[in-house]
Order: sequence, then C-alpha cells, then structure tokens
Amino acid sequence: MSGFDVDTRTQNLRRLERDTFDLLVIGGGIVGAAIARDAATRGLATALVERGDFASGTSGKTSRLVHGGLRYLRTYKVGLVRTAVRERDVLLEQAPALVHPLPFVIPSYRDHGPSRWALRLGLLVYDFLSKGKALPRRVWLRPDETTEREPRLEVGGLEGSGIYYDAWTDDARLVLAVVKEAASKGATIANYTEVTELHRTAGRVDGAHVVDRLTGTAFRVKARGVVNATGVWLDRLRSPPTSPTIRPTKGIHIFLPRAKVGNRNALALTARRDGRIIFVLPWGDLTLVGTTDTDFHGNPDVVLPDAHDVEYLLEAVNEAFPEAEVTPTDVVSAYAGLRPLARKGHEDVPESEVSREHTLFQDDDGLISIVGGKLTTARAMAEAVVNRIPSSDGKQSPALTTRVLPLGPKVHPLDELTALGFDGATARRLQHRFTPEELKRHLETSSATRPIVNGLAAVWIEVELAVREEMAVTLSDVLVRRLGLFYEAPDQGSEVAPKVAVRMAEVLAWDAGRTDREVREYRELVASHRRFRGDGG
Ligand SMILES: Cc1cc2nc3c(=O)[nH]c(=O)nc-3n(C[C@H](O)[C@H](O)[C@H](O)COP(=O)(O)OP(=O)(O)OC[C@H]3O[C@@H](n4cnc5c(N)ncnc54)[C@H](O)[C@@H]3O)c2cc1C
Repeated sequence: MSGFDVDTRTQNLRRLERDTFDLLVIGGGIVGAAIARDAATRGLATALVERGDFASGTSGKTSRLVHGGLRYLRTYKVGLVRTAVRERDVLLEQAPALVHPLPFVIPSYRDHGPSRWALRLGLLVYDFLSKGKALPRRVWLRPDETTEREPRLEVGGLEGSGIYYDAWTDDARLVLAVVKEAASKGATIANYTEVTELHRTAGRVDGAHVVDRLTGTAFRVKARGVVNATGVWLDRLRSPPTSPTIRPTKGIHIFLPRAKVGNRNALALTARRDGRIIFVLPWGDLTLVGTTDTDFHGNPDVVLPDAHDVEYLLEAVNEAFPEAEVTPTDVVSAYAGLRPLARKGHEDVPESEVSREHTLFQDDDGLISIVGGKLTTARAMAEAVVNRIPSSDGKQSPALTTRVLPLGPKVHPLDELTALGFDGATARRLQHRFTPEELKRHLETSSATRPIVNGLAAVWIEVELAVREEMAVTLSDVLVRRLGLFYEAPDQGSEVAPKVAVRMAEVLAWDAGRTDREVREYRELVASHRRFRGDGG
C-alpha cells in the first residue's frame, strides 16, 4: 500500500469530521489497531484515532516476543497459554516478514529456578498446547550439551536445559503493519489525534470530540459505536467515574552489546533475587534484556527506566553470564512501558501474578472498553470486540476473517534486494520491512542505499519510506519506531538527528524553527532515557 503519509492523514482528518462511522476506535496500540483491522475487514465503516504515534504507548515498549507465555503454566493459566500459543502460530503463518521463530534455552539449576522435572513437564504441556505444530518440538540438553550451546553460561549447579521455541517481532513495526492493513481495508486513520471527551446523545455514546495535536484544530467525530482501546489511559474516558479499571505495572528493558554479555541464543533465566523469569534475547549485535514488573503509581505519560530497574537486570545478566560484568555504562539504550492489567480481583496479589487475560467492559452509555491481554493475543481480542458491534443495518457483523489473512510484506529472496544495490546486512534488514516494489519507488532519492549511522544496517531510503508510506510525522516517529535507531545506535541517534530532521523537513515542508524543535525534543527524549546512568551521558 503506497501513500500512507501526511497528506493521507490530512484527508483522513477531513473524513473524520465529515462522515459518520459504524465504529470509532480510540487508541493506536496493538489492540486498537487490531480492532480497526478486524472491523474494516468485516466491512464496517471504521475510524481509528491515536493521540501520539502508533505504538507510542505500551505496544512499542515490549519484550518483542510473540509467545505463549511458558511462565503462566506455573500458575496453571492454561487457557491464556493455549490462546496465546494459537495466536503465535497464526502470526508465524500469516506474517512471516514480521514474526520469526526463536529457539530459547531455559537452564535448570540445583539451587534456584525450576527443577529439572518441573521444567520438562512444563515444556511437554507447552508443546501439547501448540496444536498447529508451527514450530519445532522441545529438546532436553545435558549440562555439557548446554554449555556447548552457551559456552559463557554459569555452570555451577547446572542440571541441564530445555530448548523450546517461541517467536520474536519488532513490536512497533508489527503495530504499524496492522494499522496499514486496517487502512488498506478502508479504515480512516489518523495519528496525533486525541479524543478529549466522548460525545453522548440521550445518554448514549455516539462519537467523540477530538483535537489534531499537530495544528490544535478541534472537531467532532460521529460514530454508532465507540471502543476505548487506550491501554493504561482507559479510565480517562470511561464515565461515570468508576473505581480504577487498571492496575498498571512497569516493565523496563535494556540493550547491551552482545559481545559483552556473551549469549549466543535467546534464554529464559530465573533471577536469583526473586525467582522471576528474565529474557535475554539476541538482537543483531545487541542483547535485549527484560523485564521488571513493579506496581506503578505515577503519571502514565512519563514512564522512564530508573537506576534500580537497570541494576536489577544487570544483576541477573551477571549471575547467568559471570564473565559479562556489565555495568550501567555498558547499556546502549533502555526503555520502560506500563502493562494495562485489569485490577478487578487482583488487588492483593504480587505484580507478576496479576492476570494477563483481557477483560471487556460495556458501560451503560454503550462505550466498550478493552484492557489486558498481550501483543500476541490482540487479534483474538479484536475479534471478541467486533463480535459485539452491529453493522449499520443493525445486524451482527459477519464472521471474522483475519485469522487467515496475510499481514505485512511478502518475504522476497535476498538477491532481489541486493540487486537493488543494498549490501547483505541491509538486505536482511529490509527483507523484514519492505517489498522490492516499495523500495524501487524511492531508490532515486539521495543516498538511498547508504547507511545512516556507520556500522549499522539502517539506510536513508527508510527515512523516505517512513515519511511517505508510514505516516511518520515527527523525528521520534522515524528514529524510535520506524527505524529503531533510538534503541540500536551507540548514541541513540542523537548525532544523526539533525541530518534526519533536515531530510524530513524537505519532504514535510518544515521551516527552520520546526526542524530545530524536532531535534531538540528528540535529544531531550534520549537524555531522559539515559538519566539512570547518573553521569549525564
Ligand atoms: C514491559 C512489557 C513487556 C511486554 N512484553 C510483551 C511481549 O513480549 N509479548 C506480548 O505478547 N506482550 C507483551 N506485553 C504486553 C503488551 O505489550 C500489551 O498487552 C499491549 O501492548 C497493550 O496494547 P494496548 O493497545 O492495549 O495499549 P497501548 O499500546 O498503550 O495503546 C493504547 C494507545 O491509546 C492511545 N491513547 C490514550 N489515550 C488516548 C486518547 N484520549 N485519544 C487517542 N488515543 C489515546 C495511547 O497513546 C496508546 O498509543 C508487554 C508489556 C510490557 C509493559
């Protein structure tokens, strides 16, 4: 799909003001995006508004796993795991460019973590729940076989390890793909468009007042049904005021140089401090480590990794990989997100035991709100929501189809991409993002095939694609969520930010003031995410 850009956004804002929709979806995280995709696929006149960028909330701050959640078997959440495993397999099948198989090593130690037998039983059940057999089956390794696979893993007390499979994704790009898929099915979508208040007629919600956050223009959107998919912000729109729906818990992640950590594979480790599972995941030359899980009582608009969070993850890495000796100065980047977990019935349990299952609320005014769930299960959540929405003739919307619909670009052979002038590493990166046809549309732009940051695979054509085909309208949209340089570049993209802003200014007709402001705001974002280091760097 071409032409999903700032002009599309402007036209969509006009449509939002003019038309009446069957369904208005509020929130452009994975859940809102999946609902819009499902509804538009069923033929409903669908609108989606997101107050920031797509995936700028929790959905862009995850562990980047599409997984069943092996750990939930410890608390007998078999239903949740079964759904998540099924949805993982659907995504592996339907979105091969976006969701990739990932083998995990899960070690068993004599003195901490799961016992050998508990682990073997857990992996047996996990395999059993995966009816689709989309991934290879589990394997059990002896201690010597484990260290052959992971030579730098702690050996003291090691009793062996299980190998099992889940999948990884780039979370923000997965959300974007779902958003674009919804748009291609006819949904009218705008980012940086905030619902300030719901509109009611005779006590029934029939639309919302919105404001375009780029221009300040306010108007009303008319809709027969409204879904609140605003994650941790859910209660800001529900009315009359209820007791809090959400128990937000904070989770952080850090990227470290992989050569320093020494992991070869993905691992699910058990932290000695509190017995929680910590993921250590390969991400090119980096290792992604996460996550924490602590109750959050602050302002959900400002969620940052702090020194304690980072220390906790570094401790878990250093225990498992004793030669790593990683410290806060090794951290390339860190980020934090809030889990929108349903509070009801979970007030007194520890954070990591709050249910990850989703909950649907239908208020007296007709507003449907949905909360909880996982990045992995959003498609199934969307189905449940749209099943409740009657189409304009008052009938039940026709049955679902998203389970069998492809998502994201087709995977093309690497040589089709190298033939366009990209080197091997860049071709492998682009293979998961764009088709050759999409790339060809922008090959003539300056430096298209040249790296943006020396030593990294990201190239200038991606900036062009972000702005012209992915509705990126701020510098952060490009550097954080479309390209990921915020996470992967050694200085988080601070140095290259002015050059990228100038390129964006050419396309988006920014004046010098706007261009400077974008760079300043981006650098402030980076600085706030490095504050945990305490060294100003
Ligand atoms: C640390 C962490 C790790 C995780 N790891 C995984 C994982 O590896 N795999 C997995 O499957 N799940 C994972 N999850 C769970 C998963 O990320 C969430 O369940 C999911 O992203 C929630 O999506 P959402 O759309 O409900 O919320 P969000 O992504 O937060 O989307 C809500 C959106 O609503 C917008 N919004 C709010 N108010 C308004 C308004 N008034 N008008 C317009 N828009 C508005 C926000 O800007 C936001 O973008 C993780 C969660 C966390 C916190």
